[in-house]
Amino acid sequence: MQHDYDYIIIGSGFGGSVSALRLSEKGYKVLVLEKGKWYRAEDFPKTNWNLRRWLWLPALRWFGIMKLTFFRHVTILSGTGVGGGSLVYANTLPRPKAAFFKTGSWAGLTDWEQELEPYYQTAERMLGAAKNPHPGPADKALEELAAQLGRQKKYSHTRVGVFFGPPGQTVDDPYFDGKGPRRAGCIFCGSCMTGCRHNAKNSLDKNYLHLAMLQGAEVKAEQEVFDVRPLDGADGSTGYEVHFRKSTAWFFPKKNKLTCKGLVFAGGVLGTVPLLLRLRQHSLPRLSARLGHDVRTNNESLLPVTSLDKSVDYSEGVAIGSILQTDEHSHLEPVRYGKGSGFWRFSLLPLVSGGAFWQRMKDLLRILVKDASRIARVLTVGDWARHTPILLFMQHLDSTLQLRLTKLGRVNTSLGQGPAPTPFIPQAVSLAKGYAQKVKGYPMSFFLEPLAGISSTAHILGGAVMGDSAETGVIDKNNKVFGYQNMYICDGSMISANPGVNPSLTITAISERAMAKVEDAKAAGV
Ligand SMILES: Cc1cc2nc3c(=O)[nH]c(=O)nc-3n(C[C@H](O)[C@H](O)[C@H](O)COP(=O)(O)OP(=O)(O)OC[C@H]3O[C@@H](n4cnc5c(N)ncnc54)[C@H](O)[C@@H]3O)c2cc1C
Ligand code: SF4
Repeated sequence: MQHDYDYIIIGSGFGGSVSALRLSEKGYKVLVLEKGKWYRAEDFPKTNWNLRRWLWLPALRWFGIMKLTFFRHVTILSGTGVGGGSLVYANTLPRPKAAFFKTGSWAGLTDWEQELEPYYQTAERMLGAAKNPHPGPADKALEELAAQLGRQKKYSHTRVGVFFGPPGQTVDDPYFDGKGPRRAGCIFCGSCMTGCRHNAKNSLDKNYLHLAMLQGAEVKAEQEVFDVRPLDGADGSTGYEVHFRKSTAWFFPKKNKLTCKGLVFAGGVLGTVPLLLRLRQHSLPRLSARLGHDVRTNNESLLPVTSLDKSVDYSEGVAIGSILQTDEHSHLEPVRYGKGSGFWRFSLLPLVSGGAFWQRMKDLLRILVKDASRIARVLTVGDWARHTPILLFMQHLDSTLQLRLTKLGRVNTSLGQGPAPTPFIPQAVSLAKGYAQKVKGYPMSFFLEPLAGISSTAHILGGAVMGDSAETGVIDKNNKVFGYQNMYICDGSMISANPGVNPSLTITAISERAMAKVEDAKAAGV
């Protein structure tokens, strides 16, 4: 049977880009469909006040690179565009600790730590992971905090996906024997999370996707997949019909369909899981009942600390320049925006330590009265990003949520195993207070935390996890979807335990392994 493509890949983030390159190299005809826009360096916003280019909110015709999604138990930050989350992410590429490989629904399916080692190395090489050579003042403050806590040895500069060539100078491809694009050295402006305008960030369009296109892969931007139907009406052995529409059209977007032999779902947790939950109701009824279960965050807390010392520029450096392991389970990183990016300033309230709603309101009121002048100074400080490192606290300790469809067909969260993610982690609050002393600052929190007790995460994971059968997972250990043929899931939704650290390197490594297991087009008779 003739198909338009051998493989269609839905989404161009970490898992999707790896799949595009590796499947093209294996001789397959590949198409990537991406909901977001193509962004060139000069298209990124100069600051996050340019909401149209920073935020993805199609209802307002804002087609930027970051999406905010509000659920009952968690607020999620995620990326959109050709390159997915790599456009907006903070470049940090740590490896998880050993516990990650031995817990969760994938535990025991293989020796993950040993199996994944070569794929982590490939992922690090492809993403250009390099030690940050230029710690900024926010990193130095973390180092001082580490010394105060007696944990100097647990402090290090991050490994990041950034080109540290001669600052600001453009040179020939430094990574892929001249096959990659020309690149420029990082100038440490701190603007990685509004998109790098300086061609220094190793976003996926500069490595995996670039090379995939050289191998013949096609990438169509602004195309949102909304249906996938097996051509045989059963398990997809004869291929699939993929339905998509323009995501940036004004009204009544034109619908298209294409056929393919195989599929990779790579829309990220918030793309893949809601799409599959809807498709399970009609087009893909064989999907596992575990779909939507085992959704995890990194048990994060995001704590902005605004310095009242006007002489120091805390925006200097890459977005995340250092990391401190604060105990066996937890890590702390100072995150920065570039100068002028002050949007978050108006979403802040003083930090409270938790408790029931009325207790939090009482604490909030007490702090607002007691610290009125300092809070006023924090909220009116000249350039918020210049003065405000945001502390990112992450833990290995596990709890899960479920993503499910409501009766109205919307997606929401319910509690899974363990307690709900909480913004009130005592250790995080105490570290933020300690860090505040180092930067002569004042710790705040995002308003939904004290008001609604809802935490925020940029690391949403799981929902289509691995298992030994459809009773325990949605995919097998090689990322194949139970119940269907030639169908894979390669993105954050496959992550089957809590890595406890930023997950993109791990998503890349597991996707590399999954694609290495796919046989070559010739061997498959294509
Ligand atoms: C502000 C911020 C900072 C971060 N910093 C870091 C960091 O420093 N280190 C780290 O490891 N991680 C970081 N992350 C997290 C990281 O970005 C994500 O974990 C990662 O991008 C997830 O990769 P993925 O493969 O799951 O897909 P994603 O990168 O999420 O990409 C999925 C893509 O699929 C597209 N898509 C979705 N549905 C459809 C559909 N139906 N049709 C077509 N296309 C679709 C989306 O538009 C998107 O482009 C950060 C995230 C944010 C928001
Ligand atoms: S610090 Fe600036 S130049 Fe360097 S990668 Fe980030 S945005 Fe690009």
